[in-house]
Amino acid sequence: MNYNIAVLDGDGIGPEICAGAIKVLNKVGEKFGHNFAFEHLDIGGCSIDKHGTPLTDYTVQRCLASDSVLLGAVGGYKWDNMPGDTRPEKGLLKIRKAMGLYSNIRPAKLWKSLANASPLKYDLVKNGIEIIIVRELIGGIYFGERDKGVDENGVEYAWDTEKYSVPEIERITKIACEMAQKRSKRLVSVDKANVLESSRLWRKTVHEYAAKNFPEIEVVDVLVDNMAMQIVKNPAQFDVVVTSNIFGDILSDEAAQVTGSIGMLASSSLGDSKCGLYEPIHGSAPDIAGKNIANPIATILAAAMMLRDSFDLNEEYNAIESAIQKVLDKNYRTGDIAEDGAIIVGCNEMAELIAAEI
Ligand code: NAD
Repeated sequence: MNYNIAVLDGDGIGPEICAGAIKVLNKVGEKFGHNFAFEHLDIGGCSIDKHGTPLTDYTVQRCLASDSVLLGAVGGYKWDNMPGDTRPEKGLLKIRKAMGLYSNIRPAKLWKSLANASPLKYDLVKNGIEIIIVRELIGGIYFGERDKGVDENGVEYAWDTEKYSVPEIERITKIACEMAQKRSKRLVSVDKANVLESSRLWRKTVHEYAAKNFPEIEVVDVLVDNMAMQIVKNPAQFDVVVTSNIFGDILSDEAAQVTGSIGMLASSSLGDSKCGLYEPIHGSAPDIAGKNIANPIATILAAAMMLRDSFDLNEEYNAIESAIQKVLDKNYRTGDIAEDGAIIVGCNEMAELIAAEI
């Protein structure tokens, strides 16, 4: 099969880590008989320098015409003091909107061989963990009505609104159920239904939609305060988790911290079409850019997620995951995840080692 992939390298370590992911994808193509064609496009600071804007219409058009999009990271010291609308990060918000991406999937995976990197007790994480948080991305309180003012007694006030409709909840539930179906067939739905009306609609809709369309999936409800505790108490109990925009924002950062290494975590954003946006969760790391010391694994995992979730290439996804496992088992590490006795390698070498294990 032929696949056209738009590559938004971005700034800082973006080009290095994307090159690593491309190296691995090319090896997958060779081994499994696929042809991946890559089109490099500008986003973020480098786009500001060349075109005066963090995202051009041309980049948007080419991304929409591609089969899927791989993104490195944007931003850096040079553009830190630019006004809000012209900052590199604005390019990210615009591309997500232009592609109609309403879900964000963030797997917080702790590899067995990196269990020592977790801030949690070894016993809790010694077998590794993988919590896949499916977060609603363009609704809820971050996008609801808001206002501020001063009342008749001169007291300042402000308010925001959490509002969800049944179709908004159904479409994110569909994405979460599809993910759960490929895995444990267990789905945890997180809400605050003991207090919030919007959460009661969330809970009812998730159950009704899943029971009707994915009867084999078991749905369990967890209140958000309990979820925050359970992630640090027993993270290994979770597999796929679906939740609202604000709860997902907070819980996905908490779960990422439990894994202890941002250089290993990927994320995807999906909408109604198969064309998604795949990226590492970390930023452009300007402090280490151009030194060949960045960890490319998060971006390689993002590329693997693209194969599985946009192209339905499960075997190829598994091949990349097990290649990473083998390289870690052989004790190769980039500096950010190095432990005593590790063999330290650079960004290029790490990608080459992983490609060689495919
Ligand atoms: P960051 O994630 O870039 O870096 C935080 C720390 O982690 C740094 O010490 C960095 O060297 C290290 N690090 C990050 N990724 C690494 C990797 N793959 N390998 C090894 N070490 C790694 O966050 P920051 O320093 O707060 O932000 C830097 C720039 O990135 C800012 O301009 C910020 O706005 C931008 N940013 C972009 C995105 C994105 O593109 N999605 C996300 C977050 C931050």
